[in-house]
Amino acid sequence: MDLLMIPGPIEVSPTVLESYSVRPPSHVSNKVIEAFARSLEMMREVWGAGEDAQGFILAGSGTHAMDMAVANLVDTGNHVVIVNTGYFSDRITEMVLRRGATVTTVRAELGHTPTLEAIEEAVSAQLTDIIIATHVDTSTGVRVDVEGICKIADEHDAFTIFDGVCATAGERFEMENWGADVYLTASQKAIGLPPGLALLVMSADAIEEREQLELPPPMSLDVRHWLPIMQAYEARRPSYFATPATNLILALETGLEEILDDEFGALTGMDARFARHEDIANKMREAWHTLGLELLPHLDCAANTLSAILYPPEIEPSLLLGHVKSQGVIIAGGLHPEIKHTYFRVGHMGYSATQLEHLQRTVEAVEHAVFELGHLPERVRAADVLEL
Ligand code: PMP
Repeated sequence: MDLLMIPGPIEVSPTVLESYSVRPPSHVSNKVIEAFARSLEMMREVWGAGEDAQGFILAGSGTHAMDMAVANLVDTGNHVVIVNTGYFSDRITEMVLRRGATVTTVRAELGHTPTLEAIEEAVSAQLTDIIIATHVDTSTGVRVDVEGICKIADEHDAFTIFDGVCATAGERFEMENWGADVYLTASQKAIGLPPGLALLVMSADAIEEREQLELPPPMSLDVRHWLPIMQAYEARRPSYFATPATNLILALETGLEEILDDEFGALTGMDARFARHEDIANKMREAWHTLGLELLPHLDCAANTLSAILYPPEIEPSLLLGHVKSQGVIIAGGLHPEIKHTYFRVGHMGYSATQLEHLQRTVEAVEHAVFELGHLPERVRAADVLEL
């Protein structure tokens, strides 16, 4: 069976697989109610959120989570500063514009993140209601400084939304300590599930803001409808507004438990999880370096959840992925429209970050490909860096 090493969806653990491979349970069965409640409780821990923050679990993908965050916080006439680090920042910009808000975009050269000074300057230039950033942009492998952005938002009394689809549970995020308002993700990446769930945690202030909106959100994304449902599930009471993805709720409980049970060296819980991702990312970077490959993102802002790697100039891009696939590993091509054909991407988050053998197989497959395609004069055993 081919190994799925794209930056999401990714391989899931056998325990997660087992937990959702059951006959569909009712959304008001005791089993689902308990899994829903436990998942909402554990989300606070994984997100680093306070007791007054509320998790939301909806059937959907990351894009739904983005739309829900935007539709409940951004009102017509608002001004929003968007820190744009790639393809997914473009997507959320379009969502904000559709709400009738105005946008200032802060960009840097592709592969870099805008400086905090540039963000601060944009926020100071005009009264800003909300700052939005993509924690890790999957199209460029660039990570932003969430804590720094939260400080700017705090100084200017602005709300914050962070798209964590390619980061949540893999990159350090301290929602309460840093004062972030909305952190959203989807199930198919570092959370360790198949696709199908949109996951958000919102601060109490952000939830309150929904009631101030002039332009209501679409009904299926409305916090006013979803809040009582989440509160009921957390209180272990049956509830219904729109049918949840019941099998995936069972998987979510298992996936979040696995994350929180992690151990890495002397570390436990989220500290272990974040340190594990950082360690694996460093090793993967070392392996790419051994193969004479360069990264698209600058090292200062390179994500720990994936590698975005430039094709060496002498390799025909269309050949590399096929070659890697013939070795039984699936990796992804470029995504950013301006530079799509210049790089490829490898995911190393969630369950994959716990499986050295998967990571070794991936590095070996890439080494085999670049050797066969003439980039390496001899085999260098780059995967050895991932040895236990
Ligand atoms: N944001 C980021 C950073 C992503 O990586 C993705 C998916 N790759 C999305 C948003 C959209 O998520 P989905 O495809 O699940 O709708």
